[in-house]
Amino acid sequence: MIHIDKNRCNGCPGRNIPLCEQICPGSLPLRGEDGKAYLRDQSACWNCCSCVKNCPRRALAIVLPFQISETQLRLTARCNSRNTKFTLKTRTDETVASYDVETKRRS
Ligand code: SF4
Ligand code: SF4
Repeated sequence: MIHIDKNRCNGCPGRNIPLCEQICPGSLPLRGEDGKAYLRDQSACWNCCSCVKNCPRRALAIVLPFQISETQLRLTARCNSRNTKFTLKTRTDETVASYDVETKRRS
């Protein structure tokens, strides 16, 4: 399940199509009338994390399923050309753990 922080999302101003909608294989995130992103169908999301990694405002997170986390921890991500930093946070935004995954480069 994707969680959208409406306080962080600014709707990707200046873009006809928000980055999260562009990157999602199913075009699931859309910009609503309030100018913020929303997911048109949570059940169609397969948690690929592409939108989470590419949101410039860190407004998106994957809520871990209850089988993994009873406290509904949220997985956020930030990527650059060298690595992706994943962070697990509580619902009140406290960091529980974070780790870096190196981005493969073409030789
Ligand atoms: S990419 Fe992030 S800031 Fe842009 S519309 Fe989507 S959630 Fe909002
Ligand atoms: S996690 Fe993947 S499938 Fe789900 S909304 Fe984001 S980009 Fe789309």
